[in-house]
Amino acid sequence: AQALAIGLDKLSLPLGQVRAAAHRVVHGGMRLTQTCRITPEVEAEIEACAGFAPLHNPPALAGIRAVAKLWSAVPQYAAFDTAFHAANPEVATGYALPMAERVRGLRRYGFHGLSYAAIVRKVQLISGKTVPKRMLSFHLGNGASACAILNGRSVASSMGFSPLDGLTMGTRPGGLDPAVVLDMAARHGVDGAARILNRDCGLKGLAGTNDMRALHAAGTPEAAFAIEHFCYWAARHGASLCAAMGGLDAITFTGGIGENDGITRSKIVKHLAFLGAVIDADANARGDHALHAATSSVAIWTVPADEERQIAMEAAAAMDREGPK
Ligand code: AMP
Repeated sequence: AQALAIGLDKLSLPLGQVRAAAHRVVHGGMRLTQTCRITPEVEAEIEACAGFAPLHNPPALAGIRAVAKLWSAVPQYAAFDTAFHAANPEVATGYALPMAERVRGLRRYGFHGLSYAAIVRKVQLISGKTVPKRMLSFHLGNGASACAILNGRSVASSMGFSPLDGLTMGTRPGGLDPAVVLDMAARHGVDGAARILNRDCGLKGLAGTNDMRALHAAGTPEAAFAIEHFCYWAARHGASLCAAMGGLDAITFTGGIGENDGITRSKIVKHLAFLGAVIDADANARGDHALHAATSSVAIWTVPADEERQIAMEAAAAMDREGPK
């Protein structure tokens, strides 16, 4: 709240011209499935989802409450990282758990949805073509995930109930046998295990740092193994997502690693060569948007992340849809 007060003050925005404030909220749970105005009911629902995303939703709520105090006349909107995946088929979202657990909301939600929604919008601008039918999108940053996008809509995500699942990440382990979690909880307590799983795993757990640039510079066996682990698991999850789309027409890369790290992109695409993907080494080294070789049957694009514009556009659309209140 303090940081926001200082930041907004320094921006010196002409308050009378600010139509709305829009927030990224990681978890919308089962009910908040599209960008909407933050009413007391919506705020309560975001709070109710905080147990699902303890690292993400409480800070988002703190921001919402701070803006409500500072800019009491400005309407606020929430855009959810889960929303893009809300229409995933039930077979993709359901865990094979007893009904009593499932009705509590234990299911796959998927995350990075605002980033993927922006990819669908931007890949058309960058490629000059319509959205590829079966698009495997990688968001590779400190958090990392992949998404199966069929005809412009998410049908499956590598992330699940929380943003811990799926790919090897900066400080999160990605997919684990649940028995590993039980063992860690028995040894370290639930809070201790949660702390380790969120902060000390992934690249950091394997090689001491979650900074991909530092790993490339290190040149140690541990750093090389961490990079290989990251790429191998990105490809393994990516290939599984191709099954959810019935094939593959295009791959997109975004995020700090996806946009900037040609070595990682090249390794992942090599693991996916059996699907027809071939990267153009020169284009990849230059960091072009179009990365597919002439022999590739799969288009490969880098697309800059654009979550902030996506949030603003979705909030503007919600204002038009819902009208002033
Ligand atoms: P993000 O969370 O999207 O900001 O991405 C952060 C990750 O991107 C960190 O692991 C950075 O080391 C990595 N990254 C940023 N720039 C580069 C680069 N030029 N080459 C390799 N990795 C990079």
